[in-house]
Amino acid sequence: MSTVGDSIDVIEPATERVIAKVPSAGMEETDRAVAKAKEAFATWRDVAAGDRATVLRRIAAAVEDQAMSLARLETRNVGKPISDALGEIGVVAATFAYYAGSPERLTGKTIPVPGGVNMTFKEPMGVVGLITPWNFPLAIASWGVAPALAAGNAVVLKPAQLTPLTAIELERIALQAGLPEGVFQVLAGPGSLVGERLVDHPDVAKIGFTGSTDVGKRISARASGTIKRVTLELGGKSANIVFADADLERAAAAAPGAVFGNAGQDCCARSRILVERTAMDRFLELLSTNVAAMRVGDPMDEATEMGPLITAQHRAKVASFLDDDTTVVARGSAPDGPGFWFAPTVVTPRSTDARVVTEEIFGPVACVMPFEDEEDAIAIANDTIYGLSGSIWTENGSKALRVARAVDAGTLSVNSNWSVRIATPYGGFKQSGIGRALGPDALDYYTELKNVYIAT
Ligand code: NDP
Repeated sequence: MSTVGDSIDVIEPATERVIAKVPSAGMEETDRAVAKAKEAFATWRDVAAGDRATVLRRIAAAVEDQAMSLARLETRNVGKPISDALGEIGVVAATFAYYAGSPERLTGKTIPVPGGVNMTFKEPMGVVGLITPWNFPLAIASWGVAPALAAGNAVVLKPAQLTPLTAIELERIALQAGLPEGVFQVLAGPGSLVGERLVDHPDVAKIGFTGSTDVGKRISARASGTIKRVTLELGGKSANIVFADADLERAAAAAPGAVFGNAGQDCCARSRILVERTAMDRFLELLSTNVAAMRVGDPMDEATEMGPLITAQHRAKVASFLDDDTTVVARGSAPDGPGFWFAPTVVTPRSTDARVVTEEIFGPVACVMPFEDEEDAIAIANDTIYGLSGSIWTENGSKALRVARAVDAGTLSVNSNWSVRIATPYGGFKQSGIGRALGPDALDYYTELKNVYIAT
């Protein structure tokens, strides 16, 4: 991607070719979009709940109908395998369908109090600014857009400049599905202009941000200027904890997908694989075989498991983790170029301070470390500023639950890599974020709780 004058060159990571030119918004366009959203909100908030639900259902159906073309676009723009992209577009449709059930269920409470009764209402907030990353562009956008619209808000979405294409398509789909003009707008443009203006704008009531912890901190600080509501879905350094009593073959078969899925560009990537020392040799042997067998190549091929990284710059950053503090213990293959390829790589660290142990890599590099017992595993898993997700592999159910309760992370799975389910809350502890996406709880982050007292 590069910004040329007023347009963005969108690059295909697998070929390094420009595949689209998209108008780049600035401050003026952002102000215009917010003004239009404010006007649209005034009527959208009063649209009958059942009618809002119908529009969301139509968006879900249209996304499903156009799943293949949206998936192709996502694959070309991000470099992710087409089978993954199709799965993600399925998630987008399912997210709109799920929140289509919400407008009519956004109920409050009646609370008897002396001399009268109190009622609570979940009111829409107004104009919501959503700022999203490039790794799961449309899926992550839908996690904010669908509940925000369901609750009666208007939305201005700023996708990452690198990957704006499917978000632009979603705006078109939403209009065709009957969403009134101005209720949902997409503004491609730099975070330093469009993003910051949305955060500063007095008429934007809330910011839903997904991206790096560094930018999340900046947004949090800026938002204090207007006491803006903020939810943050940030980075991670999740642990994949493998006990010696686990089904090692199953754990080793799942481990590559848990960290090399989306070429490791996944906030939930289990990039620290913690293995009980007595099982280490066997686990590494199995893992190495599975990594060597990974199919890395043309993202449009249905058999491909891993595509390229997003940019050359990002590839250089990922490569910098293979420094003197690491030993490579297994490596898969990758095509030569063109394309921003990087082979899936497994390392062991030479010290617990190695960058590969402490920093989010956001690429296909897994760091394997031994632990002695349950207590040690929990201590290592929690020795990070992050707390997004993680997995625990063991055949002992009590131990699984003890460890899951003790790990400081928002989304854990036992004998599975699965982090994201539309009906359940998703988000991070510590510096992995504030608030929760998905599930019924997400609606609380797109509504204000109002309390009305009536004297009887
Ligand atoms: P960035 O934080 O760099 O960017 C995310 C978004 O923020 C982009 O749209 C970007 O715009 C925008 N932005 C950048 N600077 C500012 C600013 N000063 N003010 C407002 N907006 C700004 O993250 P990446 O896109 O590089 O995504 C990778 C990161 O996202 C990883 O750390 C990953 O862990 C995290 N992530 C977290 C997820 C979660 O659910 N917890 C899910 C997915 C990713 P632009 O780039 O267009 O200028």
